[in-house]
Amino acid sequence: MLLYQVNCITFIENVENERGNMFFLQQIWENFLDILYPSPEVCLLCRQNPVAKNQICRKCARELEIWQTGSASRNTVYVGKRGKFLSNFYLLYAAAPYKGAFKQAIQNLKYGKKTYLASVLGEIMALYLQTKAKLVFDLIIPVPLTSRKEAQRGFNQAQLLAEVISLKLNIPLEKGLLVKQRETKTQVSLKKDKRLQNLKGAFTLSHKISERPRILLIDDIFTTGATAKEAVLTLLKGGADEVTVLVWAKSIAKY
Ligand SMILES: [Zn+2]
Repeated sequence: MLLYQVNCITFIENVENERGNMFFLQQIWENFLDILYPSPEVCLLCRQNPVAKNQICRKCARELEIWQTGSASRNTVYVGKRGKFLSNFYLLYAAAPYKGAFKQAIQNLKYGKKTYLASVLGEIMALYLQTKAKLVFDLIIPVPLTSRKEAQRGFNQAQLLAEVISLKLNIPLEKGLLVKQRETKTQVSLKKDKRLQNLKGAFTLSHKISERPRILLIDDIFTTGATAKEAVLTLLKGGADEVTVLVWAKSIAKY
C-alpha cells in the first residue's frame, strides 16, 4: 500500500509543471486514494471521530472510563412482607451518563431504529458490569414495553440490549416474565409524587417466580427512576431474591 502511495506522489510531482493537467490529475489522485483508503468509519457513539468499522473513538472511551469509576447507586424500594412494609434496595449500574454522544447513541437506537447499535451498547454494558460487580445472577430480564408499543416500534430496545448481555455474560434471558400491562404517561412530564402513582400496577408477572432467583434487570435509560422502582418491586413481590438494575445511561441531574 505504502509503495503505491509513494510511486503515485512521484508521478504527480513529475507532471505538476503541466498546469492544465493539474486539476484533472488531482482528481484522479483523490479517486485513487479513495480506492486505496476508503473513508474511515466514524465512532458509533459520537458519530464524529474516525475509527475502524464498528468501534468507538478514544474520546468516548475515555469519557466512559471516567464515568465508570463511580460506584453503583443504592435505590430503595418498599416491599410488603407478611403485612409489614420492609425497606429493601436495589443496586443501579449505569454504563454511561445520559448526555452528549451517549444520549445520542441510545436515541439513534430507539427512535432512529438503528438496532445494530444494541450490540455495541450491550457489550459495553456487559463489560462494565463484569469489571464493576462481582455479583452472581440467575436470570436476565428486560424492562418490557406494552405489546402495543412494541408492535408500533418494531422492537423493544431493552430486550435487544438484554439479548447481547445474556450472551456475553452467559446468563439465561427470560423475555416474557415481566409484562407491562398498561401504557403510562411520560415520566418527565409529571411531578415527583405523580410519577409512582402513574406507574402503580403498570407491571405484572406472566407466572409466579420459583426458586427465588437473583435477577439482573436491563433497561435503556434511568431518568426519574420510577419505572425501575416499579419493575423491581413487581419482581421482588413475585418471589425474586434480589434485583440489580443495569442501564445503558443514567440522567446526570441526580447523580
Ligand atoms: Zn466517539
